[in-house]
Amino acid sequence: MALTKVKYCDGCQKDVEAVIVERPATYTFKGETFELIERVLQCPYCREDLYDELLDSETMRILTKLYEERVGLSLEEIKSIRGQYGLSMDLFSRILGWSKATIARYETGKYIPDNSHMQVLKKLKEKPETIDEYFKLNMHKFNEKEKRKILVKLNSYDQNIVEKNLVKLMNINYKMHEKTIDSGFRSFNFYKLVNMILFFAEEGIQKTKLMKLLFYSDFLNYKRNLISITGVPYVRLPYGPVPKDHDLLLSAIEKNEYIDIDYEYMNEYTFINIKAKRNFDDTLFNKEEIEILRQVKEFFKNYGSVAISEYSHNEDGWKYTQDRDIISYDFAETLSIGD
Ligand SMILES: [Zn+2]
Repeated sequence: MALTKVKYCDGCQKDVEAVIVERPATYTFKGETFELIERVLQCPYCREDLYDELLDSETMRILTKLYEERVGLSLEEIKSIRGQYGLSMDLFSRILGWSKATIARYETGKYIPDNSHMQVLKKLKEKPETIDEYFKLNMHKFNEKEKRKILVKLNSYDQNIVEKNLVKLMNINYKMHEKTIDSGFRSFNFYKLVNMILFFAEEGIQKTKLMKLLFYSDFLNYKRNLISITGVPYVRLPYGPVPKDHDLLLSAIEKNEYIDIDYEYMNEYTFINIKAKRNFDDTLFNKEEIEILRQVKEFFKNYGSVAISEYSHNEDGWKYTQDRDIISYDFAETLSIGD
């Protein structure tokens, strides 16, 4: 049965029961010719095409997809390649040994790169570090000042890769606990955890205390709703519960510029202070979760690191879990706060 839609036909000057028809069509898009099957709305009386926004954008989507398949990279992807290094058009084009005008034409979509250039761009997209090879090849064309500038850009790009990979690593690390009692049946959410930390570390906080506040927030939410807030698994350490691989986690968060970590040495003690560098984003949390964060902060506001450590030693989750083992969220049932 044919699909129909009531539409006004200008030719017949009346509303008609327009029919959707499928037909082969040829389009020229960005200088390339494509054959495709399109769907259009047609008047059953005069057979004229009737404009339909949905069908029109459907055709456009098919065309864009065919174009990307043929040329290899979409315009958006081409534009993002230079951007990922933070290089100017001038420096980027000279590193590749191309003219500045060439890059400009590609980035504006005026020209589709020829095959050899497309292969270079694809390589930079898939393995961004290959830019080093092109730089070495054309290094002699730059003066000392330019060389230094390029190296700074490329090094900070390497740093970005480290940061991104750390976040990826934490996601993999916690993923194995996904949908189990270890994570409180929540998929790990890096940004939620980061923002929970920003909430507690707004005015600076000792690391030991912060770790406990995260534990209490996640466990309290589990106690009430049978799901954690962040999906973080916590392990039992001698001084209390902490997120699994917390040092790696904090380092990932620090390297991504969300927090500052300061070390203060006093006698044989090291005090680690954590301070938020960005604002807390409350849109990631529901009302109840926000309420829990406030409650936990308020409850422990007069507790220092030592006091909150000792307090946490009375929790069943700490008492009945082996050292370095994951604390089951089942223990949230007897959590000492939030009744
Ligand atoms: Zn008509």
